[in-house]
Amino acid sequence: MRGLITDIIPFSVNDGPGIRTSVFFKGCPLRCRWCHNPEAQRGSPQVLVLPSRCVRCGACAACPAGARGPRGELDASRCEGCGMCVSVCPAEACRLSGTEMSPESVLSRILPDRPFFRGRGGVTLTGGEPMEQPAFALALASLLHREGIHVAMETCGHTPWEAFRDILPFVGLFLYDWKITDPELHRSWTGKDNRLILENLKKLHAGGAEIILRCPVIPGVNDTPEHFRGIAELTEELPRIRRVDLLPYHALGNNKRLQLGMAEDGFRPPDEETVTRWHRSLRALCRVPVCR
Ligand code: SF4
Ligand code: SF4
Ligand code: SF4
Repeated sequence: MRGLITDIIPFSVNDGPGIRTSVFFKGCPLRCRWCHNPEAQRGSPQVLVLPSRCVRCGACAACPAGARGPRGELDASRCEGCGMCVSVCPAEACRLSGTEMSPESVLSRILPDRPFFRGRGGVTLTGGEPMEQPAFALALASLLHREGIHVAMETCGHTPWEAFRDILPFVGLFLYDWKITDPELHRSWTGKDNRLILENLKKLHAGGAEIILRCPVIPGVNDTPEHFRGIAELTEELPRIRRVDLLPYHALGNNKRLQLGMAEDGFRPPDEETVTRWHRSLRALCRVPVCR
């Protein structure tokens, strides 16, 4: 069995409790317009090009998929991820995102990090969306569980229930995204409505899952009283939600968007005062702690 992985990053402190190793899966069913990991959306390997390094030599124009222009321009929609341009580029301007790995090879990358987990930390499956590769995620989570390593999963929740049902015994914590309460607005900003996401959240809750709700807040998209009330109502209805994480929009994804030949997302990061106001509003509404 092979999975498609974009990165494995040790010493992560923002993806669950303690010190963790984060495994980034490639492929996601959503297309959030503010996505900070756009290279993880497509479920196949693809190239990124660093414009500042490119010397416009044209060596990559021989791309068999016709994805590169005469001076190295990238048409990401045509890239088939063959890696040819990475090997011919004299300036190391190209890199391939998406490596096939077995669950055992991912585990062997993780095991040296185990001393840093110190009981509290562990491994977080993230992405992209881990549940886009459900058999691989299940195999990896069960290997980690057998090793006694805590597994957290960051998920957008948009997957057939059976995938969650099967992996639930091996996942100690779900970092569950709740992006927009209104289903149609959710569709217009992410490409899918949130009905399946909500159903899965309720089923995970009924199945005894530990859940932290992760709420990205994007100025002009979901920084509304209606959505904040929606978040609070979820924490009332589902008492196993132990915390809400407020994730203010940041623009770090734009750098990668440029490397993928995409336009910038057009959002602006909120200032500190705005984030403090959001935090205060959510804290006043929610029965659980709200962290930022
Ligand atoms: S081979 Fe590298 S340096 Fe040359 S045009 Fe392509 S990306 Fe730029
Ligand atoms: S990896 Fe490079 S050479 Fe291969 S299809 Fe993509 S752009 Fe073309
Ligand atoms: S769910 Fe996450 S990875 Fe997928 S498109 Fe949205 S922000 Fe990007």
